[in-house]
Amino acid sequence: MRAKDLMRPLLAGNWKMHGLKAALGEIEAVARQASRGLVHADILICPPATLIEQAVRQAAARIAIGVQDCHPEPSGAHTGDISAEMLKDAGARYVILGHSERRKDHHETDALVAAKAKAAWRAGLVPIVCLGETETERDSGHAKPVVSGQLRKSIPTAGGVRELALAYQPVWAIGTGRTPTLGEIEDMHAHIRRELVLHLGGQGHAPRILYGGSVKAANAKDILALPEVGGALVGGASLKAEEFSAIVSFAKENS
Ligand code: PEP
Repeated sequence: MRAKDLMRPLLAGNWKMHGLKAALGEIEAVARQASRGLVHADILICPPATLIEQAVRQAAARIAIGVQDCHPEPSGAHTGDISAEMLKDAGARYVILGHSERRKDHHETDALVAAKAKAAWRAGLVPIVCLGETETERDSGHAKPVVSGQLRKSIPTAGGVRELALAYQPVWAIGTGRTPTLGEIEDMHAHIRRELVLHLGGQGHAPRILYGGSVKAANAKDILALPEVGGALVGGASLKAEEFSAIVSFAKENS
């Protein structure tokens, strides 16, 4: 059993399809900041796959490098895809799965997300499984059932569960500058924890549940202090080291 009190927060940057080699300096700067100050969090940056190997070198083990997707198969005739094993081989430690942009742009289903989570475990990566309702679903009072359904169908239990994180990302808050109220975030995270325990039994207490959707330095402190918020998944505000490091500085390990 792992209450928030014993958890080290995970602060993860999702660079999406942003970043040429020139942006690697931002990773170096976050890693430098991390080694300088007292950081009470695990720090992760997920750049585009083209930058992983160089990002791992820049990070010099001070922060983790992850990726934004993987294919469920270890290898094969899948033009343009990259397997979890290949990403692990390149130095990735985490993989974001089921982001709403992939669910929408690539028609990813919960079943595919579950297959990718299994692949991540097979390769030794930690999956960060994204869940979240659309604005219409929230307005019609269906946010919780939608998130519960995604959770049950996107997190595989057959074959055993390994290290896992979740990200609650209301679709309407991603890249919009809008966020749920603190009360709404707290309520949904408590709901996700209950659902996780129903789904995984005692193991459901362990995964960190990140909040994602328009997190920035100005709101991170309040969001990260909420119960059951075990970190943040940060998009736009993770692209610049200064802003991301400011967010990281609000993370507190309550041990
Ligand atoms: C994301 O897409 O993972 C995200 C959280 O984006 P933003 O922080 O820009 O809303």
